Amino acid sequence: MGFSKLKIPRVCEWCSKPFEAKTVITRFCGVSCANKAGKARKKLEKQKKEKESLLEKYSNKIAEVQTREFISVSEATVMFGISKDTIHRMIRNGLLTGVNLGVRLTRVKRTDLEAIFTAIEVPKENKMKLKANDFEVGNCYSLSEISEKYKANPSTISNVIKNNKIPTKQVGSFVYVPKRFIDEIFDPK
Ligand SMILES: [Zn+2]
Repeated sequence: MGFSKLKIPRVCEWCSKPFEAKTVITRFCGVSCANKAGKARKKLEKQKKEKESLLEKYSNKIAEVQTREFISVSEATVMFGISKDTIHRMIRNGLLTGVNLGVRLTRVKRTDLEAIFTAIEVPKENKMKLKANDFEVGNCYSLSEISEKYKANPSTISNVIKNNKIPTKQVGSFVYVPKRFIDEIFDPK
C-alpha cells in the first residue's frame, strides 16, 4: 500500500486557506503552517502551566493573603484575575490605594480590590440606569472586548457585571455591556 491518490478538500486550521489533503487527518496546508500551529500550541501550554504553578504557589498563601491589609501586585493579579497594567492604572486613577515600598515593591490595599470586585452593596446603583443609546454600536462592549481592553479574566468581568448590577443585552451568543459602566469601574475619569 503506497500513498493513496485521494485528494480531500480541507481548510488549513492555521491560515484558513482551502487545500487538498492527502489524508483525512491532515490539518494544515503545509509544513510551515503545521510548525506555526505547533509553536502556538506549545506557547499556550507553557502559559497554562505557568498559571497553574502560580496558582498552586499561591493556594498555600491564600489564607494568609486574605487577611493581610496590603498585598503585592502579583498577589492581586492572582486573587482578582486582573493584569498588572490594570492594577497600576487603578492606582494612578485613585481607585486603588497603592503604597510604593521601592522598585517593584508596590503594595495595594486588599479591601479596595474587594470593594471593587466583590462588593454586594452598590452605592452607585442610580448610575446604572440605562440610557436609550447604551446598546448602540460604539456605545457597548462585547465581553471579549472588555477582557482584551482591561486584560481581565472572563470570570472576573462576569463578577463585576453581576456585583455592580450592570445591565447587559444578549444578542445571539454575544453579551453586550454599555461602555460607560465598564470604563467607570476599570478606568474612571
Ligand atoms: Zn495553511
